[in-house]
Amino acid sequence: MSQTHNPDQALGFETLAIHAGQPADPATGAVMTPIYATTTYKQDGVGGLRGGYEYSRTANPTRRALEDCLAALELGERGIAFASGMAAEDALVRVTCQPGDHVVIPNDAYGGTYRLFNTVFAPWGLDFTPASEHHTAAFAAAVQPGRTKLVWIETPSNPLLGVADIEAIAAIAHEAGALLVVDNTFATPYLQQPIALGADVVVHSTTKYAGGHSDVVGGALVTADADLGQRVAVFQNSTGAIAGPFDAYLVLRGLKTLAVRMDRHCDNAERIVDFLVDHEAVGQVFYPGLANHPGREVADKQMRRYGGMLSFRTRAGHQAALDVCNRTRLFTLAESLGGVESLIELPATMTHASVAESPLAVPNDLVRVSVGIESVDDLIADLAQALPLPPSR
Ligand SMILES: *Cc1c(COP(=O)(O)O)cnc(C)c1O
Repeated sequence: MSQTHNPDQALGFETLAIHAGQPADPATGAVMTPIYATTTYKQDGVGGLRGGYEYSRTANPTRRALEDCLAALELGERGIAFASGMAAEDALVRVTCQPGDHVVIPNDAYGGTYRLFNTVFAPWGLDFTPASEHHTAAFAAAVQPGRTKLVWIETPSNPLLGVADIEAIAAIAHEAGALLVVDNTFATPYLQQPIALGADVVVHSTTKYAGGHSDVVGGALVTADADLGQRVAVFQNSTGAIAGPFDAYLVLRGLKTLAVRMDRHCDNAERIVDFLVDHEAVGQVFYPGLANHPGREVADKQMRRYGGMLSFRTRAGHQAALDVCNRTRLFTLAESLGGVESLIELPATMTHASVAESPLAVPNDLVRVSVGIESVDDLIADLAQALPLPPSR
C-alpha cells in the first residue's frame, strides 16, 4: 500500500469511526457535524471562498465529513459519497471504462450489480464476463489482459456467502493491467479492509451496515489513489448523483457505532448458525465461519470476523422455505440487510428474482437472514417456531 501522510492513520478503527473527518464545527464548536442544509455559500468578495465551498453539488461539509471518515476507515486516499450504492457503481464504471472495454464480475454478484452491467452497460458497449470469484483460477481465466479494465469482486457474496481471495485476485487484476474493485458492503471496513490487501477501489452500499438502521439509502466509493478519486469527484460533480446532507449525516451517525454493531451482529450470527446446523429441518448452512465452509481459510486470512449475514436451505424444499419466511415474528420479511433489526427473505423470489433465468440464479429453497442485534435467544426462539418440526421418531 502506498505511504500515507495522514497522521489519523495511527488511530484505532473505533476512534476513527467517531472522529475522522469530524472536528468540532469551526463556526459554532458543535461537537456533532451539523447538517449543512444549504445549496450555496457566501463569498467574501468575488472568488473568496470560505473553506473551499461554493455549491453543494460540488461539495458540502456534511458530505465531506462522511467522505473523509469513510476514506480513513477504508485506508484509502479519497471517499466520494453517492445517492445510492448503484449510483456509486455506475459512476465508477463510467470513469474507468469505455465502450469496447471488458470487465469481470462475480457470477454471484449482488443482483443490482449484475443488472447494471446487463441492462445498462452491455447496450453501452461494455463487455462483461461473470465468473466464479470463489475459484481464483477460474476467475483469472476470465480476465483478458490489456482489455479488461475492472476486476470486480464482492466478498462475502450474496446470498451464498462465498469468499473471494482479495490479495490473490488483486495480483491477477494488476498483472492484466486492470483495477481491482471490492464491494465491501457485507463485511464493512471493520471486518475487512480491501485496500490493505491490494484493492484499488472499495464500493459501498451505505444503505446497509454503514448506515445500519434501515433509514437511509446511500453509496460510496473509496479509492486507494488520489487521482482516481479526483476523477470520480469531477464525474460526480458533472452528473450529480450526490448524497444529500441529511443522508450523509445519517450514515455518519451510523458509522460511529459500526464496530460495536458489527461485533454484536457477528456474535448473534454465530449463535444462530450453531442452532441451524443442528436443526433437522435445515439443510446446508452458508456462513464463512463454518469449519467446513470452502472459504474459511481465506476468510481467516482477510477478515476479522465472519459477519452478520447467513443463508440456509430447507430440507423439505421450496414450500418449507416459504413457510419459514412467512412464519417468523421477530425476523421481518423484507429485502435489504445490515440494519439493527433482523430480516429474513427468500432470495429466489425476492432479492434475486431479477437474476432468475441467469447464471446468478439461486436455489428456491434458500432462505437468507440478516441477523440483527436483538437478544439472540429471542431470535433463536423465533426461528425455532418458524421452522418445520422435525419428523417425530
Ligand atoms: C444493496 C447493495 C448494493 C446496492 O446499493 P443501493 O444502496 O441499494 O443502491 C450493492 N452491493 C451490495 C452488496 C448490496 O448489498
